[in-house]
Amino acid sequence: MSNKQQNILAPKTEFTEFGGPIGGLFVSVATPFFSYLLFFFCNEQVGCSVLPTYPAAIWQQMVQGIRESIFDTTAFAIYFGWYAFVVACWAILPGKWVKGSELRTGIRLDYKLNAFNTLVASFIAFGAYVYVRGPAAGAILYDHWPGLVTASLVNAIIQSLYVYALSFQEEKLLAKGGNTGNHLFDWFIGRELNPRIGSFDIKTFNELRPGMILWGLLDFSCACHQYVSRKGGLTDSMVLVVLFHTWYIVDALFNEESIFTQMDITTDGFGFMLSVGDLTWVPFVYSLQARFLAFMPNELGYLATAAILFLNLTGYYIFRTANSEKDEFRKGGNPKNLKSMTTSSGRKLITSGWWGRSRHPNYFGDWIMALSWCLPTGFLTPIPYFYIFFFVVLLTHRQLRDDEACKEKYGKDWDKYQKLVPSRIIPYVY
Ligand code: NDP
Repeated sequence: MSNKQQNILAPKTEFTEFGGPIGGLFVSVATPFFSYLLFFFCNEQVGCSVLPTYPAAIWQQMVQGIRESIFDTTAFAIYFGWYAFVVACWAILPGKWVKGSELRTGIRLDYKLNAFNTLVASFIAFGAYVYVRGPAAGAILYDHWPGLVTASLVNAIIQSLYVYALSFQEEKLLAKGGNTGNHLFDWFIGRELNPRIGSFDIKTFNELRPGMILWGLLDFSCACHQYVSRKGGLTDSMVLVVLFHTWYIVDALFNEESIFTQMDITTDGFGFMLSVGDLTWVPFVYSLQARFLAFMPNELGYLATAAILFLNLTGYYIFRTANSEKDEFRKGGNPKNLKSMTTSSGRKLITSGWWGRSRHPNYFGDWIMALSWCLPTGFLTPIPYFYIFFFVVLLTHRQLRDDEACKEKYGKDWDKYQKLVPSRIIPYVY
């Protein structure tokens, strides 16, 4: 390979994100740890208190529970059967083939868009299963939670090792941030930008399908558990949480194409960070409020239900309008006649509408929705509010990363844009 080719395909990483190898190691251990911790410190047997009466006993149960989960063959069969089903859906179900964003090499890869069809097939299959076997059978995912977490972790580890090994083949396009030469860090952050098996794109597949859809199914399973333990009927809080989560998932998969302009796809390689995030963290941590309500039912009443619904709709409106304004603009349309500034690269930045109010208005909408997902769990314990705390940290960090990337891309023009739009996320506040 010539030097020029080498610089395009595999530039050496000069700046490490996430605190380098130590930060990478921390996140790699903390993510599985918290996925288990949130289960073992918050479940039907021990309750859900930040200060439990017998914490030492819970630690012991956690160690024992993780050990047992490795031998939960039912959970492993369900999980890997499920994963195979989603892969089969990708292959069999109809879907439009589209081009992704342009890569450094000038190439645009082909992607099959049928995530939404996969979601519909999965929800119908689960619904049919519950219809035929009853809600008690539908609680099977809730009943095998630790085993399913372990199975998803095994999947995430295998995939991250596989793509890491594959990234050393000739002429692979590496992520700019994933070629430090430190094995631990590169494996964590992701070395190859778009690992593929033929036309099957491993990163985009995992990003939207197995984890997001499983999150919805886990919610349904939690609802089944609540239904059975209450001997029929769901609380208004459970209905809200399942509805909100499902709507978020449906929206993401319905707008599958918008993923191609997101940072995970354009910039990050596929390593353990994304594999464990997509396959373990999203389904098992994001469903925490539904799992909590499965064993701690909470009745909200009409007024609180209406207020939380209003909050969610407000967040969704901002999130969807902001994302659509940018997506349409990037596709070359501008139905709202938004103002923009032209950068020296020729690419334009919107300066009115939501993108004139803050540099990440979509994150603001996402935060409001996150709060509305937590509120139905009431105020007995802060544990089900874990998601909003985590999400504030995640998106604040993401905004900093994106601002740095944009500064690199647009140089002085980005400074100009920052002066025009000083708020980072919350208009006129932050
Ligand atoms: P964004 O969709 O916000 O995209 C950022 C990019 O948009 C920038 O790199 C830049 O790229 C472009 N851009 C920035 N400012 C402007 C402007 N004024 N005009 C036009 N283009 C602009 O980032 P993410 O990928 O982080 O987020 C996508 C969605 O996913 C968000 O709604 C977010 O809330 C959500 N999300 C959800 C997560 C979850 O776990 N639930 C996790 C992460 C994100 P360029 O100029 O090159 O086009």
